[in-house]
Amino acid sequence: VGLQVHQFPCLADNYGFLIQDQASGIVACIDSPDAQAVLAQLKLRGWTLSLIINTHWHHDHAGGNDALREATGALVIAPAEVARVSRPDRVAIPGETCWVGETGLQIIDTGGHTLGHVSFHDPGSSVAFVGDTLFAMGCGRLFEGSPHQMWQSLQRLASLPPETIVYCSHEYTEANCRFALSVDDDPAVRQRAERVADLRALDLPTVPTTIGDELSTNPFLRAPLLKPGLSEVEAFAALRKLKDEFCG
Ligand code: ZN
Ligand code: FE
Repeated sequence: VGLQVHQFPCLADNYGFLIQDQASGIVACIDSPDAQAVLAQLKLRGWTLSLIINTHWHHDHAGGNDALREATGALVIAPAEVARVSRPDRVAIPGETCWVGETGLQIIDTGGHTLGHVSFHDPGSSVAFVGDTLFAMGCGRLFEGSPHQMWQSLQRLASLPPETIVYCSHEYTEANCRFALSVDDDPAVRQRAERVADLRALDLPTVPTTIGDELSTNPFLRAPLLKPGLSEVEAFAALRKLKDEFCG
């Protein structure tokens, strides 16, 4: 029982996710970075797509919605902001639950990268899909929201159980590692950097991560420790600015 997650790389550095509720067999995709890639992965598994679930409106997340909906008849469940790319059949509202068969995904407000960005948490299987909000050792750029909004969003994710398995949407970890090492000399960061280098040398993914690993090595979650003397939001904003300007 629970949720089966199938992760696959697509586009330049995105991950796509197909999820299947084991009780009902119902299948959903989390985001639609590339409709053809999603269709190919469905075929490979012999799965039928019922739902397209989006985290935010960016094209590498919702750009495949219409082609997928046309090819499969799947319903689009997405935050309202996705309407600029593809009309949602149902709007995903933070605080509500998105059902995939018998699996209830809790919809979490994770605005900041885009204003309406949402994440999805299944407490039963202890997995979360966080789009471009939290990355392995990183976080999304603030294209639309304020540091305050993004910090609140990151705190909502950081407060999930530490064993929660976190599926983020990009393989950015090596670059995130270089930045983390430049601002944080904690041994846990160095150890993780070695693990990341080993995985990438073998062309293996560093995603998923866990909330626990992020709490101990993600410079954005550790911002208040790394920038003492500043408020939490100021510390986060200072690190985000450093990362935006970082050439590592
Ligand atoms: Zn994005
Ligand atoms: Fe993205």
